[in-house]
Amino acid sequence: MKAIRVHQFGGPEVMVAEEAADPRPADGEVVVRVKAVGVNPVDTYIRSGLYAAKPNLPYTPGADAAGLVETTGAGVKSFHKGDRVYVYGTLSGAYAELVLCKESQVHPLPGRLTFAQGAAIGIPYGTAYRALFHRAGAKAGETVLVHGASGGVGVASVQLARAAGLTVIGTAGTERGRKLAAEAGAHHVLDHGAPDYFSQIASLTGGGGVDIVLEMLANVNLGRDLTALAKNGRVVVIGSRGTVEINPRDTMMRDADIRGMTLMNASEDELAGIHAALVAGLENGTLRPVVGRELPLAEAAQAHKAVMEPGAYGKIVLVP
Ligand code: NAP
Repeated sequence: MKAIRVHQFGGPEVMVAEEAADPRPADGEVVVRVKAVGVNPVDTYIRSGLYAAKPNLPYTPGADAAGLVETTGAGVKSFHKGDRVYVYGTLSGAYAELVLCKESQVHPLPGRLTFAQGAAIGIPYGTAYRALFHRAGAKAGETVLVHGASGGVGVASVQLARAAGLTVIGTAGTERGRKLAAEAGAHHVLDHGAPDYFSQIASLTGGGGVDIVLEMLANVNLGRDLTALAKNGRVVVIGSRGTVEINPRDTMMRDADIRGMTLMNASEDELAGIHAALVAGLENGTLRPVVGRELPLAEAAQAHKAVMEPGAYGKIVLVP
């Protein structure tokens, strides 16, 4: 099979398309023929060698993919050859024509979704779900600010929050991104590049503030997020690319919490629950992954540059 391999950490150019041995499933494992691969910012952090958890070299990048079950190992009960599936987490790396997974990493892909949409589920929707429900403890009737609603995690967060009965304020840096956030279900959409948008958050909440912030760029926003919170408000830090200064007093006045979140910390049981909920939402149409761009697998380096550029629009997907 063809696979993208990384032999040394570095820039996007360290990813090279190579021939690799076809994976074979051991007991409890599944091989999926990949039709689409999700590109996530974390793939670029790992490739650069700067991420805390480093794979052994050489490795094949990628955690998200969708396709058709090719073969199953002994003891696999839930899947059969030809089943449409998406995967979150792999044993062999998703940037390839075939991917080896544990059975628990494979989930049914409802017929209403394309494979490209299937590749846009794992990290983005898993992260949004865990941030919103497990970490923020979101409840119907609350208000959430999805701070960065135009990218993979943001679109997922908006759809999940809207379906759960929250009032959703989404932000994006471009007109196109704001339109996407509105289409995903945000009740109000703001420009996080505008000088006055925090005063708009205050007026949208009648001065009371938001109950939850899902934060995609904490190094820029955390200080001001705290001032936008209601009493007992929670900020969940999903993304951060540097350090930031905050005034701790802004948490005291509100009994507010800053809660970190990494999807990799989710236990097997938590992940099983998350994916059961996601599959239900994908089946009933409340969750509709948005693919903004598709590139051939061989152009993985181009995809890694694009995913780090401003002006997000849903997901970037690679097609083997
Ligand atoms: P993405 O698709 O590239 O989207 C990035 C988002 O950040 C876009 O909505 C972008 O909006 C927004 N953004 C840019 N500048 C912003 C600002 N000043 N204020 C608020 N938002 C801003 O990435 P993603 O997959 O959604 O991931 C988002 C972040 O979460 C990344 O940093 C990623 O590494 C992190 N993440 C963490 C976890 C975890 O487990 N903790 C899991 C997944 C992702 P515009 O482009 O419209 O400006």
